[in-house]
Amino acid sequence: MEMKERLFKLGGDVKHTAGKLAKGAVDGSKKMAEKVRIKNAISHAESRLNAAYMEIGKKYEELHENDTESEFAELLGTAADAKAQIVELKTELAAVDSASICPNCGKYVQEGQRFCPACGTKQPEPPEEAPEEETPAEEETAGEVVEEAAAEEAAPAETEDAE
Ligand SMILES: [Zn+2]
Repeated sequence: MEMKERLFKLGGDVKHTAGKLAKGAVDGSKKMAEKVRIKNAISHAESRLNAAYMEIGKKYEELHENDTESEFAELLGTAADAKAQIVELKTELAAVDSASICPNCGKYVQEGQRFCPACGTKQPEPPEEAPEEETPAEEETAGEVVEEAAAEEAAPAETEDAE
């Protein structure tokens, strides 16, 4: 059974070589997939870490607003600066959209809305464009009343076409 043995051995060799080649290819794509999986897991964990750090920072800021340890003062200052800048930029952006920013929560408040849709804070009266310049004191009061009534009516969104 020499032939069979030789064939067997050859088969074994081929199998071994093919296996090695396939293993190399599989290893390659497997490695790639594995690397992608691990990298994804790393960025996921990093996101969680950053979110946790952010929460810690916010909590610290909340708790130690007035008794900051000196080593945190600079970071808190940076945070305060950044927050102020964000508010400024949002205000700038809102101005482009002719919306305003709620002074309480910083959310957008569309033009004409008297209360913040997010937190309900009454919005500062916008500098209404004066309709007619020459308004005696008497008419001014009347105008204000009409204005207020109109604003209140505007809230339930009444339309005249809906007869
Ligand atoms: Zn608000």
